[in-house]
Amino acid sequence: MEATLRSKGPWTHRAAIWLFAAAQCVLVYWLLGFVVNDIGSVTGTPYGEIETRMLDPDLIAQREELTEQLAENKRQTENQEDRQRLLRDSTENSKQTMDQLLEFHRLSLEKDVEPNAAEQTALAEAEQLFLANQKQYQELNTQLVQLHEQQRDYKEQDRRLNVALEAARRPIYAEFERLESWHQMKLAAIKLAVLVPLLLVAMVLFIKKRQGSYGPMIYALGVAVAAKVTMVMHEHFPEKYFKYILILAALALVLCVLIYLLRRIAFPKPDWLLKQYREAYERFFCPICDFPIRRGPLKYVFWSRRSIKKLSFPRTESQSDEPYSCPLCSTQLFEKCDACGATRHSLLPTCAHCGQTKSPEALLQAAGADPAAR
Ligand SMILES: [Zn+2]
Ligand SMILES: [Zn+2]
Repeated sequence: MEATLRSKGPWTHRAAIWLFAAAQCVLVYWLLGFVVNDIGSVTGTPYGEIETRMLDPDLIAQREELTEQLAENKRQTENQEDRQRLLRDSTENSKQTMDQLLEFHRLSLEKDVEPNAAEQTALAEAEQLFLANQKQYQELNTQLVQLHEQQRDYKEQDRRLNVALEAARRPIYAEFERLESWHQMKLAAIKLAVLVPLLLVAMVLFIKKRQGSYGPMIYALGVAVAAKVTMVMHEHFPEKYFKYILILAALALVLCVLIYLLRRIAFPKPDWLLKQYREAYERFFCPICDFPIRRGPLKYVFWSRRSIKKLSFPRTESQSDEPYSCPLCSTQLFEKCDACGATRHSLLPTCAHCGQTKSPEALLQAAGADPAAR
């Protein structure tokens, strides 16, 4: 009876309740999301650490040495090339000087003028400088060729070392993958260790208290926690397992709803039954078998569910109000009240004369249903 008599409040109030319950659902979902994200932000063993532990230190030393050598080679090559460039300028310069002196010399000889000693010396010096530069240039060239050869050699070593390193790193990658997936499993376990107890609490509340005054809060909590658990499982479980979990959960939900609906027909709840009884009594039909209740002024009247509204009742005073049973299904429909002795409805909760109330179980018993079967 409690459910029928509970005050529902104006619709604005009820809408506000569900609106705030939805807000509670979203906020709880976010809160759980923050917790789950914080758990998920814990990182596993970094790759570098595994490599330091597993990679041959010899290979690392070789790698470092070779890198150093390549850099040194490059530096030297650049230096030599710079020097060569400067020398080329200088050689060019000395060649021009020498050419000019030679030209001067030739002109002097044509005019039959013997070049003096200073001019001779200058020419000789220019010649010497030019030759010296030339020689140095050659030397630098030789060194550069050597450096380039060395570089080729280093690059070949580098290539071989890279191949060796890649081969040596393959098991390290595998180990890293293994550790990382193990780490992710641990994170999933921690997340579920936080969420599953909450889910259990929400389920217990849902089963026990969802009909109570705080029903909307319990629905909101349940939906938020269940959604978060689903998301975490989706994130961590491989798809091939997750789809089975999801389909089984959905199947369980559908079966629960179906069973609930079927049970509701087979074993109706008191408030549901009461509605049925009320409608039957209002139209003077037996609530159990629908046979007309022909008592009092209606003793010799015929009516159907449609015609009852247009029926005019003969006004008779001082009709005796006697207990009455349905002649078809023999259910007692009117009985003597235990408290005041007047005749009352057997299948409605309260006596119209004295206000004494029957328990729902007593009502069900009066209707011939077995309360234990529910
Ligand atoms: Zn009946
Ligand atoms: Zn009474």
